[in-house]
Amino acid sequence: MRFLYKYAKVQTMSDNWILIVPKLPEQVPSPENAQAALEFFKELAPGADEIEIVQSEHVQFFDCGTNLETISCPRCSAHIELDWWGAAMSSDYDESEGFRLSEFQLPCCSTFASLDALVYEFHQVFGRFALSAMNPNLGLLSDDTIRSFETTLACDISVVYQHI
Ligand SMILES: [Zn+2]
Repeated sequence: MRFLYKYAKVQTMSDNWILIVPKLPEQVPSPENAQAALEFFKELAPGADEIEIVQSEHVQFFDCGTNLETISCPRCSAHIELDWWGAAMSSDYDESEGFRLSEFQLPCCSTFASLDALVYEFHQVFGRFALSAMNPNLGLLSDDTIRSFETTLACDISVVYQHI
């Protein structure tokens, strides 16, 4: 079952993005580190359509597009219904503050968890900063490459593979 969170229109062509996002949603690397990581990404994926820095004042959602298959509970691993998740996403989002990542009581086992603590397959994350590469044609990043990004950005990162 596929759920299209915000891509309701039918796509005639598909594109892929790789997003590099700090693990801590509020974290924004220094401009120097961000620029160095951008240059590293450009060397890594010279054929990419576009590689850019995405930065915002408030926490936003970096989704995996149509790669999303399941959402589950971090405690009991129960499947979380998309209707529940969509309502929680709307409730958590504030026009002036972005995503607040408040804790919600989950419908499965009543544990409390914020939306960034849920288990998304494929991975998707929340943050204020991302390096975004359109059609980088790299496949999955190796552990070495991920470590290089972490060293350059001076923080732990998550990788989002977005397909639209
Ligand atoms: Zn649960």
